[in-house]
Amino acid sequence: MNYFSTRNDQVTYTAAQAMAMGIAPDGGLFVPATIPTVDETGLRRLAAMDYRARAAEIMSLYLEEFSREELEGFVRAAYADNFDDPAVAPLRFLDDGTAFLELWHGPTCAFKDMALQMLPHLLTASLRKTGEQRGVCILVATSGDTGKAALEGFRDVAGTRIFVFYPDGGVSRIQRLQMVTQAGDNVGVCAVRGNFDDAQTGVKRIFGDADFARALTERGWFLSSANSINWGRLLPQIVYYFSAYLDYVNSGKLELGQKLNFCVPTGNFGNILAGWFAARMGLPVGRFVCASNANNVLTEFLNTGVYNKNRPFHTTISPSMDILVSSNLERLLYLLTDDSRTRSYMELLSAAGGYRVEPETLAALQSRFSAGCCDDRETMETIGRVFRERGYLMDTHTAVAAKVLADYRQETGDAAPAVVVSTASPFKFAADVLTALGKPQAEDPLTALAKASGQSVPRPLRGLEERELRFPGVTERSGMKETVSAFLR
Ligand SMILES: *Cc1c(COP(=O)(O)O)cnc(C)c1O
Repeated sequence: MNYFSTRNDQVTYTAAQAMAMGIAPDGGLFVPATIPTVDETGLRRLAAMDYRARAAEIMSLYLEEFSREELEGFVRAAYADNFDDPAVAPLRFLDDGTAFLELWHGPTCAFKDMALQMLPHLLTASLRKTGEQRGVCILVATSGDTGKAALEGFRDVAGTRIFVFYPDGGVSRIQRLQMVTQAGDNVGVCAVRGNFDDAQTGVKRIFGDADFARALTERGWFLSSANSINWGRLLPQIVYYFSAYLDYVNSGKLELGQKLNFCVPTGNFGNILAGWFAARMGLPVGRFVCASNANNVLTEFLNTGVYNKNRPFHTTISPSMDILVSSNLERLLYLLTDDSRTRSYMELLSAAGGYRVEPETLAALQSRFSAGCCDDRETMETIGRVFRERGYLMDTHTAVAAKVLADYRQETGDAAPAVVVSTASPFKFAADVLTALGKPQAEDPLTALAKASGQSVPRPLRGLEERELRFPGVTERSGMKETVSAFLR
C-alpha cells in the first residue's frame, strides 16, 4: 500500500519510507492511499483472537511490505509481560451500556505505551528496509508522559539511542522521577532551564541545524522524532478500537453489527483519529465524542467549523490535553477534503492562528463526531462521584471523557452503548485524584491513594524514590545542542 502527504497527493511513498521519515518533506503528514476494510466475516475471525493476534492482523492490512512473521515478532515483543494485564487493553464495564477501555497497563501507566512500545520495532525495521546505514537518535522534548513512554519504548533497542529534554520544574514529581531514574544503555535525559516551549523550541532548532546533521552523519547518526505525527504511532492505536468492540461483543452485551459509541479524552487528536480509521475500515461505530478540558479548541471547531488557537492557554489537572494545536487533525481534514484545501488551512493556521472549513466539510465532520468539554471542578467532581457511587477509580483525563459522555447522553438522548477511552492510571495523577476523593494532600500520594481506594500502586510506579538517580543534569537552552553532541560522541 502507498502513502502520501496530506499536502501533496501526487508523490507516493512506501509504508517503510513514511515511517522512517516521520513527516513529509513538504511538512504534511503521511496518510495511506486507500483505507482497507474488514467485513463481518473478518470481524468474527478477529473476535476469536487475543489482543496480539488482532494487532498483527490489523496492522498487516496497512503494511504489505512487512511479512506476517515480522509483524508477529513485533507484537510479541511490544505487548508482553511489560503489560500487567494479560488482555493488554482490557474493557471494564460500569454497567451493560458503558465500559472503560483501559489503555494504561503498560510500563509507564499511560496510553502512549500502546503505540510507543510498538513504534521502535516498526521504525527500526523501516530503516532496514529503506537501506539506512546510520543509527537513529530519537530526540524528544516532553511535558511529561511522552518522554517517559518513548524512553521505555526505545531503551536497549539495537541501532537506536534516545535523548529526552524536560522543562526544569515543569513536570510532576512522579514524572520527573520516572525519567531521571530511567534504565537502559542507550538513553539520556536532561532538564532544560525554562518552560516546555523553551525545551520544544530548543529541540526544533537542533532538528533544523543542517551543519549539526552533517556532523552527526559523519559519526554515523541521524536525528528523528517519536511524536504522534508518525504513522507508526497512529497505526497501533487502530487496533484497540477493534479490540474493544469485539470484547464488548464477546461479553454478550452487544450484537455483532450493532453500533457502539466511543468517547475519547483528546489532545493532539491522535487517539480519536485512530478510532475514525477503525470506523472507516468497517467497525460498526455510531459516534465519536471528542472530550476536551478547558482548552476547548476542538469543541468549538467540531461545533462551528472554526478552528481558532488565538485564546488563553489553560494549565489544567489533565495536562496531556493542554494543547491548542492538535496536529493529527490535519490528517482528518485531508481525508475529508483534498491536499490543496488542507494546505490552505495549515497556511492560515500558521499565519493567522485559525481557519474555517466549508459547510460541507463541517457536515461531514458532524456526521461522525460530537464534542464537549469540562473544567477542572467538573473533572474532580466526576472522579469523586463515580468512585463513591460505582467504585470505579479514574484519572483526571479519563474523567473529562466520562463527564463529557454523560453530558452528551443527556443532551442528545443517544443511549447507545458507549466506551470511555481511559488513558492513564489514576495513580499517575495521584495527588489530584486524592483531592477529588476528598482526602487531604499527603507526603506520599501514591501510598495515600492506595489506602483511600483499596487498590495497589502499579508496579512501574513503586519504589521510584529509592531508584538510582541516573540523570541529574540541567542545561541552559543554549547548551542543548552540545548536550546532544556529547551524548552521541
Ligand atoms: C497524550 C494523552 C492524551 C491525548 O491523546 P491525543 O492522542 O494527543 O489526543 C490523553 N490522555 C493522556 C493521559 C495522554 O497521555
